[in-house]
Amino acid sequence: MDRASTASLANHLGISHNVSRPDQWHKYYPIAKGRHQSPIEINNKEVHYDRSLLPWFASYDPGAAKTILNNGKTCRVVFDDSFDRSVLRGGPLPGVYRLRQLHFHWGSSDDHGSEHVVNGVRYAGELHLLHWNPKYSNYLDAVRRADGIAVLAIFLQVSRSMKCLFGKEAPFPNFDPSILFPKSHDYWTYHGSFTTPPCEECITWIILRDPIIVSSDQMAKLRSLSKNAENEPNLPLVDNWRPTQPRYFRMVSASFL
Ligand SMILES: [Zn+2]
Repeated sequence: MDRASTASLANHLGISHNVSRPDQWHKYYPIAKGRHQSPIEINNKEVHYDRSLLPWFASYDPGAAKTILNNGKTCRVVFDDSFDRSVLRGGPLPGVYRLRQLHFHWGSSDDHGSEHVVNGVRYAGELHLLHWNPKYSNYLDAVRRADGIAVLAIFLQVSRSMKCLFGKEAPFPNFDPSILFPKSHDYWTYHGSFTTPPCEECITWIILRDPIIVSSDQMAKLRSLSKNAENEPNLPLVDNWRPTQPRYFRMVSASFL
């Protein structure tokens, strides 16, 4: 196995080098300084409306939800992806992509925490629904391909509204993530990477324009997670977002005018 696949395997097994600072990642994973890195800042001035972009559709099977876990880096819900059970299609995608997991990025306070930044705005958090292209034999194969992964990204905006999206009693298993979608399916899309090492450049990003509304209490619950193991001193899990990366010559397209 070459170094890159060893690193990739280690990452996906949850074993990674003790590199917590994003500006050091490239020392272990050179692609982290590549030309197709994520997240990026999205500026209306630089976005192109693409009238050929289709609407996207998600058909998720609530029974596919398996477990929820805090892996020390994020809060993650894992889905059964052994067949085309919960899928995303349409939009910029060439075919059907299988839902594998969803997870969140958040800050240490409500005024930051999203990875993508829109016209200078940082949201309190960002939800990522990660899908892989089943034309490849498995997930680890897909992460090595330019069209291997599709991430649907949804911003979390804090308001006083108490619409309950996450909480202690969230039902896992038996959870349909499409309840988290905002009303509008308008999106931006571009080609980028994972925002965690090794930062493989295999992702078609579909970033929804409209955020979903969460309460400050709900964000506080995410911040109350710990990144330490049991019986270790408490370290709050906060600021698990990567700073924006250069866009270089990439085009960001919008499905809306
Ligand atoms: Zn993510």
